[in-house]
Amino acid sequence: MVDAAVLGHRIRHFRTQSELTLDALGERIGLAGSQLSLIENGRREPKLSHLQAIAEVLGVSTAELLDPEPPSPRSRLELDLQRLQEGASYRRLGLPAVRPSRAMGDDVLGALVGLHRELDRRSREAIATPEQARRDATTLRHEMRERANALPELDELAERQLDAVGYEGGSVTHRAVSEMAARLGFELVYVTDMPHSARSVTDLENGRIYLPPASIPGGHGLRSMALQAIAHRLLQHREPADYREFLQQRLEINYFAAAALMPRSRAVEHLRRAKRERNLAVEDFRDAFGVTHETAAMRFTNLATDLDLQVHFLRVGEDGALSRVYENDGLPVPVDASGHAEGQLVCRRFAARTAFERTSRTTEFYQYTDTPEGTFWCSTQTGSGTDGEFSISFGVRFDDAKWFRGAQTAFREHSTCPDVRCCASPDSALVDRWRQHSWASARMHQHTLAPLPSGTYPGVDDSELYAFLERHAPAL
Ligand SMILES: [Zn+2]
Repeated sequence: MVDAAVLGHRIRHFRTQSELTLDALGERIGLAGSQLSLIENGRREPKLSHLQAIAEVLGVSTAELLDPEPPSPRSRLELDLQRLQEGASYRRLGLPAVRPSRAMGDDVLGALVGLHRELDRRSREAIATPEQARRDATTLRHEMRERANALPELDELAERQLDAVGYEGGSVTHRAVSEMAARLGFELVYVTDMPHSARSVTDLENGRIYLPPASIPGGHGLRSMALQAIAHRLLQHREPADYREFLQQRLEINYFAAAALMPRSRAVEHLRRAKRERNLAVEDFRDAFGVTHETAAMRFTNLATDLDLQVHFLRVGEDGALSRVYENDGLPVPVDASGHAEGQLVCRRFAARTAFERTSRTTEFYQYTDTPEGTFWCSTQTGSGTDGEFSISFGVRFDDAKWFRGAQTAFREHSTCPDVRCCASPDSALVDRWRQHSWASARMHQHTLAPLPSGTYPGVDDSELYAFLERHAPAL
């Protein structure tokens, strides 16, 4: 497949080298100069006989004419400009196409092509599909699994920040977090009118980090959010170039916040002691550091390697869909064809779902589950949030259950998922009974990752954000 535009450029290149005009070359090969011009402009493909005649006259081989490379850097720029101007992102603007004339300098041409490339990149980025977003999330999950879910440099950064404000163990106080912010030149300001699309907003000019109001002053959620905002500054995050970078930054600020609330050294100390006593429990870990069950369970996954444990963590909604997951113990996690796990339905036999059937939910629920990949032990805590009920599960393979409180549980389930006969397909007798005699209307699923609006900050409404900043900036 020959690119007519490149071929045209190559013919023109060798013709001008031979110092022949269009008409002169046309005459030698029996083609009107205007016809030859169409060929050189890539609007017409030459017949093979003409191509051979051109090669002969210009003293080159046909293979040389058919080389897919533009004949010179200048020619490459011209071809790029032409191609980019024909692209959808430029045509949508309704602007005229510029023809690169000989009078146009290389610098002008280079600048035009550079602008076109950037326009093209930005328009592609803005239409990043949920599919791409899912692929990025999956890639990141695999990378973290490779690293045993640990980011030691962030653990160290968090410990240094805590040392600097005189932290001496236990639950990190709200005051300590404020002091951490102050060391970076920021004041924490609580406001009731946060932009809906932002979790926190930082005013770099006036040194303020805006946070939502404190329903319970010093509550875990607030410390965590303030620490995340601080992490953006400490890690010198720039405007993310794509969704992949956005996810990476998200992961880092969450990790830093957890590492500051449960610093590695003291957290590992706590967990090692509990392991020696064969009394490991996420609920104790949670209470020792004054964080949520979810934060404690997720933080445990960061530290598991230090305890010689391979573990799994699941956050599952009441509808059975996964919203967060980590495993390096081989638990068979449901994934779609592309390897994406979030939004997938977890086996009904897993503790993550059977826990919803319990009436007493004040403590952890323990269960063994036989799967095609072996037997796993799980501790599950249910709770409710703005998006309904959810369960947090943390567990290990059968052999490691002995280190945990609840290893004695008599609850045991058997799962053969992903085999549909396990729990995904209904009882055949019930199908026969109801198939012809029922109708149900579906509820739309919320678990697809929505594409992000392409504002300055992914997912944040620009106009709302800037109006907010304006409203709160101190008067001069
Ligand atoms: Zn199942």
